[in-house]
Amino acid sequence: MSIAEFDVIANYFSQDFPKRPDVILGVGDDAALCTMPPNKQLVIAVDTLIENIHFPKKTSPEDIGYKALAVNLSDMAAMGATPAWMTLALTCPHTDETWLSKFSAGLRKLAESHEVSLIGGDTTSGPLTITIQIIGFVPSDAALQRRGAQPGDGIYVTGTIGDAGLGLASIEKRLLLARPLQKIVETRLHRPTPRLSEGQALRGIASSAIDISDGLMADLGHILTASGVGATIQADNLPLSSTLRDSLSVDTAWNFALSSGDDYELCFTVAEDKETALQAALPANSYTRIGIIERRMGLRCLDSDGRMFLPQESGYEHFIKLNVGTTLRKRRSRSR
Ligand code: ADP
Ligand code: MG
Repeated sequence: MSIAEFDVIANYFSQDFPKRPDVILGVGDDAALCTMPPNKQLVIAVDTLIENIHFPKKTSPEDIGYKALAVNLSDMAAMGATPAWMTLALTCPHTDETWLSKFSAGLRKLAESHEVSLIGGDTTSGPLTITIQIIGFVPSDAALQRRGAQPGDGIYVTGTIGDAGLGLASIEKRLLLARPLQKIVETRLHRPTPRLSEGQALRGIASSAIDISDGLMADLGHILTASGVGATIQADNLPLSSTLRDSLSVDTAWNFALSSGDDYELCFTVAEDKETALQAALPANSYTRIGIIERRMGLRCLDSDGRMFLPQESGYEHFIKLNVGTTLRKRRSRSR
């Protein structure tokens, strides 16, 4: 049964989200009113998820709610910021209460973990589309940026990469995994962990940072372009989960790690004289060194014999031309 727009807002997006003392007026007025902390800069990002483009049609509403916030929190993490407030623009074909209640629960779960208040939004009718704007803080002039990597800096990645891509391949039945492994990688796709504490710990240590949404090659490429440098990475050093290693040949595993998106790990660079600070800031098992920034432009990936390893795809771009037989992932036009 469909309910009215005002009931949608009142029942699912007003109560129960984290309350913060810096929110003077939240949902219910013409706009939200918040107090800025002193000596901080605002950090603002927005990301849209569209059904069938950014998530498969059969994704559960809890997972959609969770992921819509997770991808935005990941942008905060990449800036070294602390998230505080969000707005939600929700477009859905009808107001199905079961769907709304599950969607709102998935969104709320992650909002609670990071004390993010839902301060407003917009509710409209149309094809399922979720846009979240996230607003956070960073101490003045301390934000991490894509530019800043220098020749000689080490290149690092948090967690493991390629798992979310394997999750999508499993959902689309491009390969068959044992049930427990399916569950692990599909969870990595639907419920990425935004690396907020890592991003914040890297302030003053990392010379550049980005979150890996479109694949390591593509996203590290953004750091290189913004910084005006090149890099060499060692495929052997790529952090692969045991699921990825056990399910795929080495070359295929590297392809997933280098080119598939949606992991939302951080890729960052650190100068040699900050390595001790890095070791003190993050647990040793939370990140891996994968390569080095160089003066020579371009991104090179070497295999264990020192030969060039060329991945088959390098991430997802805006408005890729539609080809017959392309997968959901290749069709997406992304803005992340
Ligand atoms: P207006 O017509 O002034 O834009 P709306 O009727 O769109 O107001 O929204 C009423 C209030 O509900 C506003 O405070 C708005 O921010 C909030 N709101 C609307 N949709 C959502 C939503 N999906 N999530 C959170 N808040 C929402
Ligand atoms: Mg409105």
